[in-house]
Amino acid sequence: TWGRARAALRSSIGKNNFTTWIEPLEFVSYDDGVAEFHVKTLFQGDWVKRNFGDQIKQEICNQGAEVTRLNFSLAKDAMPRPQVSKPAKKVETAEIKRFSPDTKDELPGAPLDRRFTFDRFVVGKPNELAHAAARRVAEGGPVSFNPLFLYGGVGLGKTHLMHAIAWELSERSPELRVLYLSAEQFMYRFIQALRDRQMIDFKQLFRSVDVLMVDDVQFISGKDSTQDEFFHTFNALVDQGKQIIISADRAPGEIDGLEERIKSRLQWGLVVDLHPTDYELRLGILHQKVEQYREHYPNLEISNQVLEFLAHRISSNVRVLEGALNRLAALAALIGREITLEMVHDSLADILRASDKKVTVDEIMRKTCDYYNVRMSDLISPKRSRNIARPRQMAMYLAKHLTQRSYPEIGKRFGNRDHTTVIHAVRKIEELKAQDSQVAEDAELLRRMLEA
Ligand code: ADP
Ligand code: MG
Repeated sequence: TWGRARAALRSSIGKNNFTTWIEPLEFVSYDDGVAEFHVKTLFQGDWVKRNFGDQIKQEICNQGAEVTRLNFSLAKDAMPRPQVSKPAKKVETAEIKRFSPDTKDELPGAPLDRRFTFDRFVVGKPNELAHAAARRVAEGGPVSFNPLFLYGGVGLGKTHLMHAIAWELSERSPELRVLYLSAEQFMYRFIQALRDRQMIDFKQLFRSVDVLMVDDVQFISGKDSTQDEFFHTFNALVDQGKQIIISADRAPGEIDGLEERIKSRLQWGLVVDLHPTDYELRLGILHQKVEQYREHYPNLEISNQVLEFLAHRISSNVRVLEGALNRLAALAALIGREITLEMVHDSLADILRASDKKVTVDEIMRKTCDYYNVRMSDLISPKRSRNIARPRQMAMYLAKHLTQRSYPEIGKRFGNRDHTTVIHAVRKIEELKAQDSQVAEDAELLRRMLEA
């Protein structure tokens, strides 16, 4: 009876669900309306019961056996129940010991994440400069970059690098007074000091550190008195030759509502940006994370195929990528075997949908026109003057790199041009990017605007 019910289920719930959930069920017994199955993990049984219970009962009934209840129990040789609470989701934080020999006062910094070390930072093309600069500052080489200004979009590793610097410094020179905090916390402490009439203490404290790190400095844009205080702290420290490290989501010059004098001060040292991740970097990060999960789940298997799929499809920020992997790791642990691509599609449907926001050729054309201040009609016209041909080539280049469209498809959108014209345009921009920093910057800016 189960054999036939099983075959019927295969067509009623679909092949993927069937292979994932029904096939592994081991039919044990049928007794007085109760069908008993063995499962590998209790989670599997629970899932099957909730999602396919009614259909299973129905199909068994269709075969002529009356079933009122399904029972799922662990087979004797089943894997022990995994401990779901174990994955490294929990934020492990720790305070660096912040005592100086003479004053003994503890610095009011934010806790540092234990996992944010250089060891765990995967270096790729998009972040190699930022990484090298951070390392240099942490190792205190002969040339100092002061301030070091790190910027880049959300989830690209700014905070990770700053914590890594703090950890490294505290290990190499435990006597250093390292203060890490967010710009928000800086403002909060400042306001608190004003309110409690503790400004002298506040100033003294911030001027007594050896290394000051302020994360997400864009937060103080438009907050005038906080900016003022920040500026004075900044100057006092630089005058004493103390190291300052700042992060923001944009380049100093692009932070609206930030005083000019601060912008220019921030640009004194080294300004480096973290570029959006590329496929190789994402894949590298995923591989590293899987290794880390194995510390908790030695048996965790996530195939390369799945990792490649994730790296390909989730191109936004690393935090989202980590979230996706987290979920898969938990799922893999729960069901006790390797996850398939189908399961990835199911369990990450929301994340995949959100990162599906694909750039269109149309959008590329419009934004490129805005950027170079040319008309759309010019872009698709036969005109060949350079002030129009260059934006057109740029738009074609972007269309090729940011969408899945083929050369002929792209040519068509640009006033029915031949695919060889598109190929030529893409090569031309690639060439120019290498020679002309203006072109490289244009391409980068446009890409960011389009992918934002
Ligand atoms: P940001 O401060 O730029 O918004 P975070 O530093 O908080 O981003 O990084 C977001 C998450 O992605 C963190 O968990 C961080 O460890 C991880 N991450 C980002 N870049 C890397 C990288 N290159 N290697 C390993 N993990 C990374
Ligand atoms: Mg951050």
